[in-house]
Amino acid sequence: MIYLDHNATTPLDPRVLEAMMPYFKGDWGNPSSPYRFANRVRTAVEEARQRIAECSGCKTEEIVFTSSGTESDNLAIRGVARTHRSRGDHIVTTAIEHHAVLNTCRALEAEGFRVTYLPVDSAGTVDIQDVEKSLIPETILVTVMHANNETGVIQPVQEIADLAKHRGILFHTDAVQTAGRIPQPLCATGADLISFSGHKLYGPKGIAALFVREKTQLAPVLTGGFQERGLRAGTENVAGIVGLARAFSLAVESSEEEHVRLEKLRDNLESRVCSIISDVKINGTEAPRIPNTTNLSFESVDGESIVLGLDLHGICISTGSACSTGEPEPSHVLLAMGLSPNQAQGSIRISLGKATREEDIDAAIQALSETVKKLRTISSV
Ligand code: PLP
Repeated sequence: MIYLDHNATTPLDPRVLEAMMPYFKGDWGNPSSPYRFANRVRTAVEEARQRIAECSGCKTEEIVFTSSGTESDNLAIRGVARTHRSRGDHIVTTAIEHHAVLNTCRALEAEGFRVTYLPVDSAGTVDIQDVEKSLIPETILVTVMHANNETGVIQPVQEIADLAKHRGILFHTDAVQTAGRIPQPLCATGADLISFSGHKLYGPKGIAALFVREKTQLAPVLTGGFQERGLRAGTENVAGIVGLARAFSLAVESSEEEHVRLEKLRDNLESRVCSIISDVKINGTEAPRIPNTTNLSFESVDGESIVLGLDLHGICISTGSACSTGEPEPSHVLLAMGLSPNQAQGSIRISLGKATREEDIDAAIQALSETVKKLRTISSV
């Protein structure tokens, strides 16, 4: 198998599994229990928190563990909405967010909040002036993703953070696709709230975190115990937390080197695909992107058929978000960038990772070229 779908998930790094094992076997105590057997476990959780904070450039107590990037997004957005409703009822986001953000905003609209969904340009970038124009006295939150999961396009989050700070508005960014993938600490985004998730950075599934800037008022989403300073009730996923910290520090250690390597592989893939296959469009290429991602539209071919065709060659890619697989609708991200429904339906996402080598790119190009040719022949009959 050649796995080229790292934006959907990544394999667990064996060093991460090794770090987690003691907390499945001997050290299985509840970190909230008072005896020494559990103290060891509590210490492991706090050391993991500290390590993640060091990698992110923030304070230890600003990291809150959750179960997923989706939960982190929910906690950030719902948490601000509930706490600050008396100050205002308006939220600003973009049309290209992950469904974890979009559907949370839609649910809040049903509760009476007003939400502005900002457009993006043809490169997939939100315009800072549009953000500025959208802010009204009742705006309590701006939530704009760091990098898009389908195109890899990086948004101008530092500028948005400055703008929001100037107006006294909270800013959340979904950094699920950038944490450990770009050689900058997460907090350099300047956001007040930052979501990230273990399984996108060679850590386990079912563990994630939310950075919550000191003094940010946030209501919990879950009711229950007082874990995570009252922000996230429920017994901690200790092995997952230890694994997230190990995965995060490994990712940060190699991020500079990997950035250069993956960008070279991705650029090579794109230029060769464009020279071998006709009528291909690379989406988001005019904007800064995370280095592992490419999104390609092929004329007169269905993206889902390309994915199935490549699967027959043992190659895993996708049409976009793994959460949207099986959805008959074309990608909301590509439509927002101005692609026609047909162009959007003819698109695929290839996302490279740590194990990707030049031979994998060669094999993918060969399989892609054969598959597109075959599908175009069938569709022209
Ligand atoms: N946000 C983005 C940008 C994502 O790509 C994903 C997952 O693909 C999520 C949020 C959801 O993260 P999780 O799968 O940990 O719930």
